[in-house]
Amino acid sequence: MFSDDSAWNMSNKLNNTMNHSAECLRKAVPLMVKYNIAVTPPNYALWYTFVSGKLPALNEKLNAALKAYGTCPPALSRELFEQFLSEKDLELYDDIANELSSLIGNVNQDIHYTLEQTMGFSEVLTSCNSSLDEAKESETLTDLVLEMVNKLSNEAKAMQHTTSLFQTKLALAHTEISRLRAELKQTKQDATHDALTGLLNRGSFDDDITQLCSNTKSNSSLFLTFVDIDNFKQFNDDFGHQKGDQVLKIVAKMLHNKCDQLNIAYRFGGEEFCIISQNSSQQICFDFVESLRVAIERLSVKDSKTGANLRKISASFGIARHQQHDSPAELIEKADQALYLAKQSGRNRVEIFCAEHEKH
Ligand code: GH3
Ligand code: MG
Ligand code: MG
Repeated sequence: MFSDDSAWNMSNKLNNTMNHSAECLRKAVPLMVKYNIAVTPPNYALWYTFVSGKLPALNEKLNAALKAYGTCPPALSRELFEQFLSEKDLELYDDIANELSSLIGNVNQDIHYTLEQTMGFSEVLTSCNSSLDEAKESETLTDLVLEMVNKLSNEAKAMQHTTSLFQTKLALAHTEISRLRAELKQTKQDATHDALTGLLNRGSFDDDITQLCSNTKSNSSLFLTFVDIDNFKQFNDDFGHQKGDQVLKIVAKMLHNKCDQLNIAYRFGGEEFCIISQNSSQQICFDFVESLRVAIERLSVKDSKTGANLRKISASFGIARHQQHDSPAELIEKADQALYLAKQSGRNRVEIFCAEHEKH
């Protein structure tokens, strides 16, 4: 039988599911509040997409509006929604939220109903007990007991029925919640990860680098490394786009496997990746990046039928150390300059940005 405690546990579990859904709102809503944007479904879809970084052109327009107005005027919001999103996007965000809350509402109602039934059963038992007390020594005791047993048995049957109905509903709700959880997880994954390689995407990189650069504490332990596959266009030209995609995937997989909490890999765009590293000296950072270079150098494009090596893969790397007050753009520019030097110096090598480069 369901006690108050188990009902509480149940609703606690359901609250956790809601928290999961709230995670998706976590980044978009504070921004909407900050810029005084009404939290309507179209606006939410717009800002959710903005946060995901999936549509750089939309971000550019929203950023320009924020720069000009300090907010995004409703008319412009409508225009941007129509231009970049569709009713389908709206339905997806709305559906997930609605389905989840109606599901939780239904299960809560069921819990309430079952608890009411349980209370009814207790009341019947109590009234039977007091009747028994009053009827002691009476001749009609046998009849009374029979009547009570009948009552109890009927109540018990009714309760059994309610409980089994409730259990079926709970099992269904459980399946449904698992499905929704997977759907929400996928939505979150889509917003933060690159579809082709599975690495964190450009939006995630922008968020992370902005937050780390704005950290007021000294950030001399923060490094940014740009990784660019050498002569990648040639893979596409010689073996086709699909093989090109495969190269991106195996390089990304290698980066992912070698990275850890202190070295986070992202797909920056195209055949460019980047790594944010922390808590390492310049030498430790260099050694780590050099180990990546060597690992990529061992990779090759293989013939799908024979397995024979078609061409070796290599990449160039540019490292920059964050200097106090460096903005994300400045840090990126420095890593880019170091990468450029690596390309100029013959590719398949690691270069570190030095302050002297600024003078030339
Ligand atoms: P470099 O050594 O100087 O970096 O030369 P590169 O050929 O690697 O660089 P370039 O910028 O000339 O070419 C990059 C190519 O990457 C061009 C573009 O078509 C291709 N590319 C970008 N994104 C993708 C993708 O997702 N899949 C595939 N297959 N190709 C892509
Ligand atoms: Mg490139
Ligand atoms: Mg390249």
